[in-house]
Amino acid sequence: MSKTGEIVLEKITKSFGNFQAVGTVDQVIEGGSYCCMIGPSGCGKSTLLRMIAGHETPTSGRILIGGNDVTTMRTGERGTALMFQDYALFPHLNLKDNVAFSLKIHGVAKPARQEQAMEMLARVELANLADRMPFELSGGQRQRVALARALITNPQVLLLDEPLSALDEFLRLKMRVELKRLQDDLGITFIHVTHTQPEAIALADKVIVMDHGIIEQADHPRAVYDQPYSPYIARFMGGQNVVTGTIAATNGSQVVAEAEGGARFDLPVKRDMAIGDPISFAVRRDKIRIVSKAEQDMNTLQGEVINVEYQGTFVKVGLNTTQDDEFIVYMDDRAYFDNPLKVGDAVISEWSSDNVCHLLGTN
Ligand code: ATP
Repeated sequence: MSKTGEIVLEKITKSFGNFQAVGTVDQVIEGGSYCCMIGPSGCGKSTLLRMIAGHETPTSGRILIGGNDVTTMRTGERGTALMFQDYALFPHLNLKDNVAFSLKIHGVAKPARQEQAMEMLARVELANLADRMPFELSGGQRQRVALARALITNPQVLLLDEPLSALDEFLRLKMRVELKRLQDDLGITFIHVTHTQPEAIALADKVIVMDHGIIEQADHPRAVYDQPYSPYIARFMGGQNVVTGTIAATNGSQVVAEAEGGARFDLPVKRDMAIGDPISFAVRRDKIRIVSKAEQDMNTLQGEVINVEYQGTFVKVGLNTTQDDEFIVYMDDRAYFDNPLKVGDAVISEWSSDNVCHLLGTN
């Protein structure tokens, strides 16, 4: 099997003085895939990306790209290109020369580099602006020049550090589609660092969720969103409520849990649990009904409405319950406006146990 563009991170760590920015990371990113790294500010995403790019050296561990150990290899030799968040275009060079710059460094003759730069500008639909200077471009156009400049060296792996963060919402969504199309066309590996959950879910074949320098979960977007590993992932990815309780009864794969206040829930579990064990599970916000009178014995939680936000396709209703976090329900917009709620209303939320995910992690 070809390993082109495959990235293997073997027991990678990175410390700055006494501070460990990246803990022990073991991960394989398949060649030709689109991988998004996400996590809160300071969790080590950029440091990991910079180690893959060769801008930082790991304190320990190995990095393999395309089957080659590149851990100590120089930036330009490892088949990667890094696109910076601020695009880092040369202000005094026109677009064609910006894009051709790294070919010049590599000693490519002028006619060949100009031809390749024009091809790359055409790929990002900017060939007609080749003679413009960076200050004459919009944010989206600057972003595309930066992409063309990163791709001109024909990398196996393109590394993107928050590539869309400087763009307004409309352009972000447009460029998101273009990034995915470009990756499909080129068939090379993209690793994209983002702060935005919908961006990661929409783009990635694999989402890597980090926290405090380690990988908490690395999986297909649907798994990360619908089957989160831990309460942290469930909260961070959004879309889920976390409920905690203790096991009151079990028959192996199915348990009954009891929460503070006596509410009971039945749910499938992913490992054996004993009576009295603490348990956390996630309930999808969009799979919960709000009713005035409980229609079932289990899987209901009483609450008081503390917040209502209209979101267009749904209405986000926040409840104060016996659980620590605000318990959030995404109500269908039409159903909501048939029976609107107001802050202070006492309601019952209920769901079916097949919309629940047993959380294995403890943090
Ligand atoms: P953000 O989303 O805010 O960009 P991040 O997840 O990309 O954050 P990193 O930039 O990787 O986080 O930083 C991880 C941690 O390492 C942070 O606490 C940061 O302050 C620290 N750090 C990064 N580079 C250095 C450095 N050169 N010297 C010392 N500490 C550093």
